[in-house]
Amino acid sequence: MRTSKTDQGVRDQSKVKPTLAISFSGGRTSAVMTKLCFEKFKDTHEIAVTFANTGCEHENTLRFVDQCDKAFGWNVAWVEAIVTMGERKGIRAKVVTFETASRNGEPFEAAIKKYGMPDRNHPHCNARLKTEVMYAYLRDELGWKRRTYWSAIGIRADEMDRVSSKRIQNKFLYPLADAGWTKEDVKRECASWGFDLELKGEHYGNCTFCWKKSNRKLMTLAQESPQVFNFPIRMEAAHGWTNNTDTNKRVMFRERRSALDIIELARTRDFTPYSDAELQDGQLISMADYDVWLDTGSGCGESCEIGADD
Ligand code: SF4
Repeated sequence: MRTSKTDQGVRDQSKVKPTLAISFSGGRTSAVMTKLCFEKFKDTHEIAVTFANTGCEHENTLRFVDQCDKAFGWNVAWVEAIVTMGERKGIRAKVVTFETASRNGEPFEAAIKKYGMPDRNHPHCNARLKTEVMYAYLRDELGWKRRTYWSAIGIRADEMDRVSSKRIQNKFLYPLADAGWTKEDVKRECASWGFDLELKGEHYGNCTFCWKKSNRKLMTLAQESPQVFNFPIRMEAAHGWTNNTDTNKRVMFRERRSALDIIELARTRDFTPYSDAELQDGQLISMADYDVWLDTGSGCGESCEIGADD
């Protein structure tokens, strides 16, 4: 389905199909979007499906990407950021596989070494580890020029607030959002597959410790799987002052909390642990009452989609 730059050079230009990039984030919504887009456009478009691995995804997220790829024949390009130190050196993409993909945060650590710790005032990780990696792969491996192709992104109709205000300018497509697909539609579709994303809950999705997740999700992770925070603890210790001209050492989480602070909060504060929403009488209900402090998250706390911080 993908055609390399070399192949393109010898092709009859009159037969060149329009190009479509599909950004598969590894979540269920993104998987359903990828399946629907692939089925609809595979005969009429040249399609490139990419999965950008940060090295901090749950192993079962990686397995789900691999299972989807094998089951539906998407020929997913697994890509990781190559970060080069120095001014005016942009992100490039390394092609890996399910077997060789980083599992110990290597791409993320490389980005932190150059750009510093991400936090709400320095939200660079989505761009460096997801968006720019996909663009670099399409440019350098396939010869696709930026803004000559549309990029399909898995955001649902119940998440319209996550649709980029620059969607036309950036040539972003939101097929599920535009078609009115909700979380329940996605769940129903996935339930018809012979495999699933095997996570204990959504709080384990994306980078497991993602600083955009709600406090409830982070504190639940800290209680259930504190090892998830080993990476941010190590990064905060080593890189709190990297690329940082502020007066405070930079930490990752909201309200200037460190990873150790999250673990301490989970130990000392009463809260109902996060649990995925359930269907009851056809209505989506939350297992825990909504609390602004505990439950406010942002975009990538649900799924890390390209262009989230544009
Ligand atoms: S999931 Fe969160 S921590 Fe990981 S790249 Fe996306 S925004 Fe950054």
